[in-house]
Amino acid sequence: MALMKVFSRANLSFESGDGATLYDKDGKDYIDFTAGIGVNSLGHSNKTVKKAIFAQSEKLIHASNLYQNEAQEKLAKKICELLGREMYAFFCNSGCEANECAIKLARKYGATKFENKKYEIITLSNSFHGRTMATLQATGQDKFHPDCFAPYMDGFKFYDTIDEIIENIGDKTVAVMLELVQGEGGIKPLEVESVRKLARVLRDKGLLLITDEVQCGVYRTGEFVTSQLYGVKPCIITFAKGMAGGIPIGCCMSVGDWFGTGDHGSTFGGNHLAMSVGLAVLKKLEKLKKDGDLDKTIANFTKKLDKMVAKYPNLFIKRTGLGLMQGLVLKEASNLGKIYESAMKNGVLILKSGKDTIRFLPPLNISKAEIYEGFKRLEKALEEF
Ligand SMILES: *Cc1c(COP(=O)(O)O)cnc(C)c1O
Repeated sequence: MALMKVFSRANLSFESGDGATLYDKDGKDYIDFTAGIGVNSLGHSNKTVKKAIFAQSEKLIHASNLYQNEAQEKLAKKICELLGREMYAFFCNSGCEANECAIKLARKYGATKFENKKYEIITLSNSFHGRTMATLQATGQDKFHPDCFAPYMDGFKFYDTIDEIIENIGDKTVAVMLELVQGEGGIKPLEVESVRKLARVLRDKGLLLITDEVQCGVYRTGEFVTSQLYGVKPCIITFAKGMAGGIPIGCCMSVGDWFGTGDHGSTFGGNHLAMSVGLAVLKKLEKLKKDGDLDKTIANFTKKLDKMVAKYPNLFIKRTGLGLMQGLVLKEASNLGKIYESAMKNGVLILKSGKDTIRFLPPLNISKAEIYEGFKRLEKALEEF
């Protein structure tokens, strides 16, 4: 094989998609409750996405960051409008890059705004922040730190709870980075009151709250960002996955423009294609929210999940999550792989999260019929596995 074997791939490949339905090369259809791990926020072959790609590619795909780029300014303005705040944007191509930018930005802030240099970033033990060397070290989960990749970067600490984080904010601490809903660690929404308390503590000390909204942002949990749902105003917010409907994008938003010229950069980041598709996607999602369709879909999907928990009390402990970032927690972790396989065989795609949670990240515009069909297939998979 010509590919590095870093992924454990299912024996399945897709040729096309339409909405929340994918087709393999034999024409067999699958209901997609994964949206490419939260990427295809408007589903597959979406008209808005296709039109934006086509229109922009007819004009210009990339011209580099050596020149003015109105498309970046437009998308940055749209993001600020949806956040309801003035912030500065840096565009890149992925979630880990957005977090790298956040980490560098926090270090610059910590080195220049205090008498003693502050550089330490605290995260949660159960977190996931990416696969680059810095974001691996920001990721608290031990399984991401095998000895073969050592030495890791200094300047990161993790604790199990927000209260412990607050207790351990030290003289070197500059920022706390959190996923408000932990995506890879088992779809765990953090407790609202603890997050608010932490935000107050950090604000009073002049330190930074960073929310990694790579997975839980861009309407995934029902609001544009999950921090709006939590009623906190992070100093830095990172985005990626769902922001451009499948075109690679990453974005770091900050209350301060602390970098100087040359401090950071990206060759591909912020190219005209990603920016115009991102803008079209955000406008479409904003409308989906304003028209009430997103909230209806969330209510419907949640009801279906609650029904599954009620119907299979010996399989599931509970539903967990917010909006269309949901999980079903299994009583027996050993069933996770088997259910995942059985679902695939029965034509519905789900994700795993943590050791014991089935994860659902459907397209945000998934139809009622697709939700109905997906859960019908999932029930069949549960009966069979
Ligand atoms: C997926 C994810 C990342 C990493 O994003 P990549 O685009 O794979 O680099 C970082 N943080 C969170 C919360 C994620 O879910």
